[in-house]
Amino acid sequence: MPVWFLAIIPLAVVFLWLFFRVTQSHKRQQSTLSSEYFKGLNYLLNDEQGKALDIFVKLVESNWDTIDTHFALGKIYRKNGEMDKAIKIHQGLIARPSLPERYRSKILLELGYDYLGAGWFDRAEGLFKEVLIEDARSKEARHNLILIYQQEKDWYKAIDIAEDLYKEEPGVIGPMIAHYYCELADMAKTKGDTAQLENNAHKALKHDSNCVRATILLADLAKSRGDYARAVELYESIEKQDAESIILVIDALLECYQQLGQEDKLHDYLVGLQQRHANLFLQNVIASVLEQSKGEKAAMAYLSERIRQQPSLEGVLKLISYKAQEIEGDEVFKDLLTAITLLQKDVVEYRCQKCGFSTNTHYWLCPSCNHWGTVKPGIVHLGHGVIDKSETG
Ligand SMILES: [Zn+2]
Repeated sequence: MPVWFLAIIPLAVVFLWLFFRVTQSHKRQQSTLSSEYFKGLNYLLNDEQGKALDIFVKLVESNWDTIDTHFALGKIYRKNGEMDKAIKIHQGLIARPSLPERYRSKILLELGYDYLGAGWFDRAEGLFKEVLIEDARSKEARHNLILIYQQEKDWYKAIDIAEDLYKEEPGVIGPMIAHYYCELADMAKTKGDTAQLENNAHKALKHDSNCVRATILLADLAKSRGDYARAVELYESIEKQDAESIILVIDALLECYQQLGQEDKLHDYLVGLQQRHANLFLQNVIASVLEQSKGEKAAMAYLSERIRQQPSLEGVLKLISYKAQEIEGDEVFKDLLTAITLLQKDVVEYRCQKCGFSTNTHYWLCPSCNHWGTVKPGIVHLGHGVIDKSETG
């Protein structure tokens, strides 16, 4: 059975449903509609889409209630990646002199989606703006404009439209605007403009008080200025914003405490953090801190006890690495070390909490589902390390 035929089956179902809906509301026109409609459907099933479209265009002109068939056809073409065909349908509709005004915005939106799918952002932008001229409150048009500006990294334009939506959906739009300000803060950081960096990071926190990224920008700035006490205060405040994200700043936190000469205080803080959040993976960091302040034996004793409560490949590997000198030449330990190192390759450091995308690089914007702030450090569940089974089957 050819592939196009499989694609046509759901199309036929949609069309039959639309047909019965339309004919039920227009009993008088039923006989004319039905013969023409089935003729069109027949052309579709025979893969003669041009002829089918001619019939549907005639039908829509005599009864605009059949416009849903065009929208359904356009959506299916778009889903199959046939943007040219979807564009042809929607352009054909917009060019009809008899088009009732009430359908104009909807067709412009559909055409906008076609252009987005084809990667023609400037044309899509023009259409979504046109929708806003017709209907200034259209959320769909404003959301799509934001996505276009986000794609083009035009953060000022994105903020401009998003600020307008913020009043209506603060919970959804606030974190997005915060990331746009963080993008501006990042740009200021690259230019060495610390005043703008601070200004934008504070604006980000104003829109989303839990914006970890803005806190990290401010903490990094304090650290670069040598104000380690302030930097520690800011890094540690991430625990209240989003405890899992504190893993992102552990190395910077270590550096600050070392600069302050307060390794003991750091050890107490990390142990407290681990007690408050059992799912955070801190055992190797705590072992390293212990190793530096109290020596290797103290670190090994801590790890031996800890991996019983929270078994992890990383912990076992670190424990074995402490024993490296003694086990040199021992074949069994060598094989064990190789096996654990190989298993560790499957360990995923970050995962998107929205779509499940896993990666070993941290992103603020998920490259898979385009959500901000959803890619987070992997969580260690008691008894298991974070192992990505999706690729290994
Ligand atoms: Zn995602």
